[in-house]
Formats: sequence, structure tokens, C-alpha cells
Amino acid sequence: MSTLSGKVAVISGGTSGIGLAIAQRFVAEGAHVFLFGRRQSEVNQAAELLGPNATALQADVTKFADIDQVAATIRAKKGVIDIIVSNAGLTEEASIETLTPAHFDKTFNLNARAPVFLVQKLLPLMTRGGSIVLVSSAMHLKGFPGHTAYAATKAALRSYARTWAAEFKDRGIRVNTLSPGVIDTPILDSQAPTPEAREALVNMYLGMIPLGRLGRAEEMANAALFLASDQSSYMTGSDLMGDGGAGQV
Ligand code: NAP
Repeated sequence: MSTLSGKVAVISGGTSGIGLAIAQRFVAEGAHVFLFGRRQSEVNQAAELLGPNATALQADVTKFADIDQVAATIRAKKGVIDIIVSNAGLTEEASIETLTPAHFDKTFNLNARAPVFLVQKLLPLMTRGGSIVLVSSAMHLKGFPGHTAYAATKAALRSYARTWAAEFKDRGIRVNTLSPGVIDTPILDSQAPTPEAREALVNMYLGMIPLGRLGRAEEMANAALFLASDQSSYMTGSDLMGDGGAGQV
């Protein structure tokens, strides 16, 4: 039997990068996956790629009405949720001099505020034995110039995992964070305006990674599968670092 046979999972930002790799892996392991993102074109592509054991929806995780609609769709189609992966996020660099209230609010709204209400709205559908995976970042424990807002949002997720591990224990629901290092996904493009700037950024990061390479989204999917499944049954409130050693050495 596959690791997630018969399970129902929901993934925010499941149409690209790490979220899409997690969706592919969960489907391959027997789950039915509900995933969503804002761009309809990416939603359609994900639906085509993943096939009948996935339901791809257009929804913005920062909009309550959209999340209510996602919850209603899951309730109607499956009735329950076993796994939540809160993955949607953005990175924007800003030094203390260039940081604006708009940048700060946008980063916190998506990366730190939305996961709280995503979990609040989906929790009534969650079963005993359920698992919540919050996609944080190795940056929650490192200091990188230009990441005042981003790193703080990821530290907030680390904190939610601790609080919710305690708060949800009587419901039999585990909560952990997955903290990727530098993973080769489209999010890196959002930090570099040109291919040359992207290469310079990657080279800067490579100097800090003991394994000497960027991570792959599929490697994060392996880690997410571990946290989502009973393989990690004795873990809650924990943080799993998938960072090539960058945060460790
Ligand atoms: P990505 O390829 O840019 O994917 C981001 C996903 O989030 C897309 O599906 C995007 O779709 C969705 N999204 C963005 N805003 C959304 C919104 N308001 N509502 C719903 N969906 C939204 O990025 P990634 O690298 O896979 O990153 C995934 C997560 O991993 C993020 O939380 C990121 O902070 C974290 N992470 C990444 C790295 C890395 O190096 N890649 C490292 C550490 C942590 P739409 O744009 O169509 O909405």
C-alpha cells in the first residue's frame, strides 16, 4: 500500500515549485490532493499534470472568501482533510533603508497572516491523526541582509508550529515546519531581475551550502511526505531542515 493511500491533502501554492512537487509526490503516494494558486493558467497546467487524483482550484490564500470556497469544495467532494501543507509564500528583498510599509504588509499578509486563517478555516474538516506542514525557511534561524520582513514571517511559522502542536494535541493533529534552504524554483527569479543577477545570487548562496549545490523541489517533497505521513508519527512542534547543511554548519 502507498504511504498516503486514501488520504486527502490540501496544498496552498501547489501550482509551482515546492508546492507542485509536493502535490506530485502526494498523488503518486495515493492521496487525493486539493491545491490552489492565483494564476488560472498555472492551475490548469497543474490539473493536467496531476490527473484525476488532484483537484486544482483558483484561489488567493489571503482572501477569506476564496478559502471558504476551497473548504466548501473539499467538504462537498471528500468531507474530510487529513493533511494541510501551508506553502504559498513570496520573497522580496528590502534593506532597512528601502523597506516600505507596503512591502512589509504584503510579506506579512501572505507569509504569516494567511497561514493562520487557512488553518483556522480548514481545521473543522481535519481528522484525528491529521498532519499540518508549514513551509517555513532556513532563514528563520539565519541573519541575511535585506530579509527583515521575510525572515520574520518564517520565524512566525516556526512559532505557530509550537503553539499549535500544544493546542491541537487533544484532536490528534500534529504540526511541524519544513524549512527549505535555497531550492531551485521560480521564486529565485523573483529575487533577480536578469539571468546574470540570478547567477550572481545563486553563486552567493552556493558559498554557504556545505553540500555545494541548490536543493531540488523533489527533495522538499520527500521531506514533506515524511512530515505529512505516519512515518513522522512521533514528531510534533518540530522543524525539519532541508537546507544542504546551510543552517547547520
Ligand atoms: P514558487 O515557485 O514561486 O511558488 C509559489 C506558489 O505560491 C505558486 O504556486 C504561487 O501561485 C503561490 N502563491 C503565491 N501567492 C499566493 C496567494 N496569494 N494565494 C495562493 N497562492 C499563492 O515558490 P517556491 O520556491 O516553491 O516556494 C514555496 C514556499 O517555500 C514559499 O513559502 C517559500 O517562502 C518557501 N521557501 C522557498 C525557498 C526556495 O529557495 N525556493 C527557500 C525557503 C523557503 P500564484 O502566483 O499563481 O498564486
